[in-house]
Amino acid sequence: MHFKSSIEYKIALAYQLQANFGQDLLQDKEIRGLLLQLNQNIEATWKEMVSSGVVRECRDCAVKEGSCCGTGMENSYDEVLLLINLLIGRTLPRQAYDTTSCYFLGENGCLLRAREVICVNYLCQRISRSIQKEKLIHLQRIAGEELNTLFMLEQHIKKRLKGRGLL
Ligand code: SF4
Repeated sequence: MHFKSSIEYKIALAYQLQANFGQDLLQDKEIRGLLLQLNQNIEATWKEMVSSGVVRECRDCAVKEGSCCGTGMENSYDEVLLLINLLIGRTLPRQAYDTTSCYFLGENGCLLRAREVICVNYLCQRISRSIQKEKLIHLQRIAGEELNTLFMLEQHIKKRLKGRGLL
């Protein structure tokens, strides 16, 4: 893989963007509002994942079968989504915890807070079989709100960075 498409390069870029423009971005009223909204949406998705039983199923499966967060999944992340994680207070890993899994899989699960659609929305066959359909539909509606906010935030940040010739 070309170094510029490696996850290490994108992480370094995200840190650089945060150091050079983080404060500038946080002064934008719309970005601040969307970050706040995203945090609330993520909280709501996790709450629903716990109450619907998805978290319990995933934990049980991870112990018995291993995590489904496979190697290479990190490649769907770009520097803007990584920057958003930094803006909401996450630290990005400098190396993979387990080289046979996704780069962002830590000892206790995913290290990211703002995540790609595939990571937020993925429901495997075991979950589809063991959890009521109505509960899963409700969960997907709530997760959809998180993804909508994330999309708007990404667009807004990209516009600001493009305006400065950085993307
Ligand atoms: S949820 Fe996190 S650890 Fe799992 S594939 Fe997505 S980014 Fe990687």
